[in-house]
Amino acid sequence: MNTPPHPISPNATIALAIHGGAGNITPSNLPPNQEQAYRDALTQVLETGHALLCQGGHSLDVVEAAVRLLEDSPLFNAGKGACFTYEGRNELDASIMDGHTLQAGAVAGVTTIRNPISAARAVMERSPYVLLIGTGAESFAADQGLEIVEPEYFYTRRQYERWEKSHQAREESASLNGEKFGTVGAVALDSYGDLAAATSTGGMMNKRYGRVGDSPIIGAGTYANNATCAVSATGHGEHFLCNVVAYDIAALMEYKGLSVQDAAEEVVMHKLAQRRGEGGVIAIGKNGQVAMPFSSVGMYRGSITADGQMSVHMFK
Ligand code: ASP
Repeated sequence: MNTPPHPISPNATIALAIHGGAGNITPSNLPPNQEQAYRDALTQVLETGHALLCQGGHSLDVVEAAVRLLEDSPLFNAGKGACFTYEGRNELDASIMDGHTLQAGAVAGVTTIRNPISAARAVMERSPYVLLIGTGAESFAADQGLEIVEPEYFYTRRQYERWEKSHQAREESASLNGEKFGTVGAVALDSYGDLAAATSTGGMMNKRYGRVGDSPIIGAGTYANNATCAVSATGHGEHFLCNVVAYDIAALMEYKGLSVQDAAEEVVMHKLAQRRGEGGVIAIGKNGQVAMPFSSVGMYRGSITADGQMSVHMFK
């Protein structure tokens, strides 16, 4: 899947940011060996994505590759490692957006597509649609030659035990202590000046009735526009939907001239926080500045900025 190249901007700058979900992530909730495992996973994804960008890779290819790695890791609530629904299934959502063309693709409520982010990209590039759901999305992915797996592929003991505990307690909030949310995402600026964003999730544990959050919704969980920024969100999806978070950040930049840092902080730390919407975003502005504000206790996150500096963090 290659995007045709177009003229390279004279001041080529590259940047990459990723997240592995927001939540109640504290040193006491995360034993040292697990903390190291998260650090290693995030570092590996950043290094892979950055190498692609350095070789002239397109931002769309980079965010897809980064999210695929995060989906394949059992540590994160996306792909392998997704949380369980009320009924004990794994239902996955993902979306991707190209800041150059403003085209986007997404899938929701899928249970057999190994890498939902690649299905989202196929929807964008090989269908006349933006969002496909459930069995229709699965047939489309199979027709496109994407890898289809048994629903059991997504099982991990960690997520199953969390779900079981929550059912035993019959009280969702008691069981969520430790990692309330979880989703993965990537945003990138490539050497052609193109931005892209991608997000993938298992959603929120114990979701029911075909609930879908912000992650596969363009403008809420994912947005990219070369004129402003690329954004991927994680947090309590219902709030991110109602506040159109990702687009709102881009709109503050476009209409009010805010920097990506100010725009992202305004939306996440003020607007959303006032409405008790907990979570965070990763964002890259068109000039390569990275912003990663979050209102939750922690957020798995990392970036490689235009000057080549890599950072990986999880706590405040
Ligand atoms: N935003 C996702 C959702 O509501 C969950 C998350 O980010 O953890 O489905």
